[in-house]
Amino acid sequence: MGQCETVALKYLAYFIGLFDARSISYLSDATFLLTSPFEEPMPTTYTDLMADLRRQIATVSLDEVKRRLETKEPMVLVDVREKDEWRLGYIPGALHVPRGFLEIQIEQKVPDKNAKVVLYCAGGTRSLLAAKTLLDLGYSKVESVNPGFVRWKDLGFPMEHPPQLTEAQRERYSRHILLPEVGEVGQQKLLNGKVLLLGAGGLGSPAALYLAAAGVGTLGIVDGDVVDSSNLQRQILHATSRVGMPKVDSAEKALTDLNPDVKVIKFEERLDSSNVDRIFEGFDVVVDGCDNFPTRYLVNDASVFKKKPVVHGSIFRFEGQVTTFVPFVGPCYRCLYPEPPPPHLAPSCQEAGVLGILPGIIGVLQATEAVKLLLGKGDTLAGRLLTYDSLRMRFRELKLRRDKNCPACGENPTITGYVDYEGFCNIG
Ligand SMILES: [Zn+2]
Repeated sequence: MGQCETVALKYLAYFIGLFDARSISYLSDATFLLTSPFEEPMPTTYTDLMADLRRQIATVSLDEVKRRLETKEPMVLVDVREKDEWRLGYIPGALHVPRGFLEIQIEQKVPDKNAKVVLYCAGGTRSLLAAKTLLDLGYSKVESVNPGFVRWKDLGFPMEHPPQLTEAQRERYSRHILLPEVGEVGQQKLLNGKVLLLGAGGLGSPAALYLAAAGVGTLGIVDGDVVDSSNLQRQILHATSRVGMPKVDSAEKALTDLNPDVKVIKFEERLDSSNVDRIFEGFDVVVDGCDNFPTRYLVNDASVFKKKPVVHGSIFRFEGQVTTFVPFVGPCYRCLYPEPPPPHLAPSCQEAGVLGILPGIIGVLQATEAVKLLLGKGDTLAGRLLTYDSLRMRFRELKLRRDKNCPACGENPTITGYVDYEGFCNIG
């Protein structure tokens, strides 16, 4: 048998698995690597496996990761450590997918298989193994950070800490935590969120109850009225036993009964130009349920000056409408109606009736907008007016446009201070 035949037979034997590649002794490693149809010998030990992975997978240094974070270079940073390790801190912006859940969760959390995925763990070993898994799953740009988070922390590089929800909070908000769009991080945002409700009436009632239930941590309530029995047909924050009580006190009782996580800040007063700055201070979102012209303009101007979003709702008989004013993103109220109508032309709504359920619908829509704004998720009603006709059970949507000549948010604003308009009506 000539040497060529011997080599051919040995290769055949190799193909059918009779020999380890290294046993073809008379071929040097270099020759073997050049001629073998296999690129790499199968690793047989952990050391071999790691050496093999180090050759296959691109690694990236901690300095490089830090540079990319600072320059906001697109990448999906994935922390593959265990939950207990993640709780003690992680690299800002990282997604947490523990190595044990990698195959199960990664396609849901990182659907784009062409995204640059950068994996890290504590020291660089688990991330390397995880990188191999992602390559097998078809991710095309996978890198492993080396070393890992332990060194990152030692170097004093920036860190974030996950929300520290208590066991009771994890239980209470478990249906939020299950939503990828909320999760523990989103729930913490809600708990840190501060929403100001203008009015504890028809719209403010359902909005406040749902915001409290959702775990929005601070609710400011502005209302100077007391609970009247005629309110109870729609103002579900209040109760027969609390008729005669200031609405802010009645609201506080209902909301803290519902959720002790909620802090209620009471403003037992009417909003006007003298107190609007003080009252708006510190709140992230304003939910406006005060359906009267002077307040509407005052709230609009304050929101433009302070760049605070306002979720506006109003109701009349069987119809309601809701929109969200996000200053300088969508139109403001003055983009639509630069000035209020003269008092004698304003609709008199003092005696208008309202279907008791109607504010429930509109107020809950307002609460939904507020929660989305706090979470930074979804599409708000900025630039859209949603109208609801309860008799015909019909929702409609109208486009609202910004006006570059708007006296409040336009290119050359003329409204630079608060204007007190004469009162018209208030159907709260
Ligand atoms: Zn405007």
